[in-house]
Amino acid sequence: MKKTVLREYARLIVRCGVNVQKGQEVLIYAGLDQPEFVQLVVEEAYKAKAKKVIVEWHYAPLEKIHVRNQSVTTMGAVEAWEKERQQHYCDVLPARIHLVSDDPDGKKGMNMEKVAKARKMSYPILKPYSDAINGKQQWCIAAVPGVAWAKKVFPGLSKNQAVEKLWEAILTTSRVNEDPIKAWEQHNADLAERCEYLNILEIESLHYTADNGTDLTVGMIPQAHFCGGGETSLQGIFFNPNIPSEECFISPMRGKAEGIVYSTKPLSYQGQLIDGFSLRFENGKVVEAKAQQGEELLNTMISMDEGAAYLGECALVPQKSPIAESGILFYNTLFDENASCHLAMGRGYTDTIRDYQNYTLEECREMGINDSMIHVDFMIGCDSMRIDAICTDGSVVRIFEKGNWAF
Ligand code: ZN
Ligand code: ZN
Repeated sequence: MKKTVLREYARLIVRCGVNVQKGQEVLIYAGLDQPEFVQLVVEEAYKAKAKKVIVEWHYAPLEKIHVRNQSVTTMGAVEAWEKERQQHYCDVLPARIHLVSDDPDGKKGMNMEKVAKARKMSYPILKPYSDAINGKQQWCIAAVPGVAWAKKVFPGLSKNQAVEKLWEAILTTSRVNEDPIKAWEQHNADLAERCEYLNILEIESLHYTADNGTDLTVGMIPQAHFCGGGETSLQGIFFNPNIPSEECFISPMRGKAEGIVYSTKPLSYQGQLIDGFSLRFENGKVVEAKAQQGEELLNTMISMDEGAAYLGECALVPQKSPIAESGILFYNTLFDENASCHLAMGRGYTDTIRDYQNYTLEECREMGINDSMIHVDFMIGCDSMRIDAICTDGSVVRIFEKGNWAF
């Protein structure tokens, strides 16, 4: 891919993605296989007057070795210096950029039960820091094609061809065209208009049905509203958490989901695939989880903690989105979730509560926002998907028909 185009993309992530402020610290999480692109992002961050840019590199094969050789107690321990670091981030609120490039199968063979146990140990210690930072910082997830990922998406091509093809797909769906920043302004305005329409309806519950057997009703929180595209941090800084993003989303009422839902795309969870699965809900909680592939992992996932078996997000994405129209299965949630209607298990978004800055985190959770150590999106949209909004005045408004917006 041409360096000038990649620089445009790096600039989009820095300016429009996290919107780096003068004098702000920037944290970049990236795979070791992406030095050239990370360099561009770092340069753009300094051009935006970042005070300091820190890159945290990861290398999936090393993670496997660590998991094999460390005890659960060692893996789950949070050292004093780590707490200091977390405190530092709470104090200075860096802009965080996550560049995903991972192999969707990269953690095959890793002992996920061990990882889950360690996570359960460290989570309660780290949670106060993540709660303290909630809503205050700018963050952005964007993608860079790793070789193994590109080969998974385009198995018939050579390594170089596959990477080039995945770059094209990432840049097209991320609206990196002649003027990406302007394209994003336009796109954000479109999403805001959709959300406004949905919010005027005063939806009490959403009823999903599809030919694959999906028949699920999910209750809404009266104080919640649909959000989409860019958002504003509690510090008043506008940023775009996902590049790309096509969804209008809301966090549903914890405890209000009845029926069954079938997945329509494989889910890459912690480097392993779960495919062909269904979840049956009663009183908001999953009471039965079945999968053709990865059933054990699916059950581990929804039993990570109490909230992991409850919904955290309902997102509406038409089958006509640029990602869906590319016809590519990315095996990566950032893209696949933006190609299809999805739900998420686990933590909800407190910023979907109207004027959430006026409430404490606890108050948002009391209103019905779910809390969990996980937030995992999975795809449920398909060409036959219908969604009816059951409104507070008793009326029923069809908002999705044959997989696309009905308005
Ligand atoms: Zn989503
Ligand atoms: Zn999500």
